[in-house]
Amino acid sequence: MSGRPRNFYNCAKCPAYCCSYPRIQTTRRDIRRLARYFGVAFEKARKKFTKKGEEKGERVLRHRKDHVYDSVCRFLDRDTRSCTVYEARPAICREYPGSTRCGYYDFLSFERRTQEDPEFIPSA
Ligand code: SF4
Ligand code: SF4
Repeated sequence: MSGRPRNFYNCAKCPAYCCSYPRIQTTRRDIRRLARYFGVAFEKARKKFTKKGEEKGERVLRHRKDHVYDSVCRFLDRDTRSCTVYEARPAICREYPGSTRCGYYDFLSFERRTQEDPEFIPSA
């Protein structure tokens, strides 16, 4: 067998639960990429797009209010549920979920089958 392993999740059918995680860590490289993307200085991007995380020196993406989850990453388009900085998104977003399965998508699919409603979104 050859080719890429099949993924058992479909982000296009999910309201971007992973973008609601409060702790989406960024590295200096991620901030540099975002700064370049927006044509602003590193320090400005750092302050505007990230805030202090739990760990010393950690910077996480800033959030804003959302109608599906409590809050989501400031870069999520809250209507289309897609990333507005896709080409410049942090490494952690590129790697997620890091396997052929996404736990949330499994849960979402189960609930949708149970409810017999392909659009169903379980309350957070
Ligand atoms: S929670 Fe899973 S299925 Fe939903 S957008 Fe994130 S990776 Fe995709
Ligand atoms: S940068 Fe994009 S992919 Fe990453 S959490 Fe924000 S909206 Fe989601």
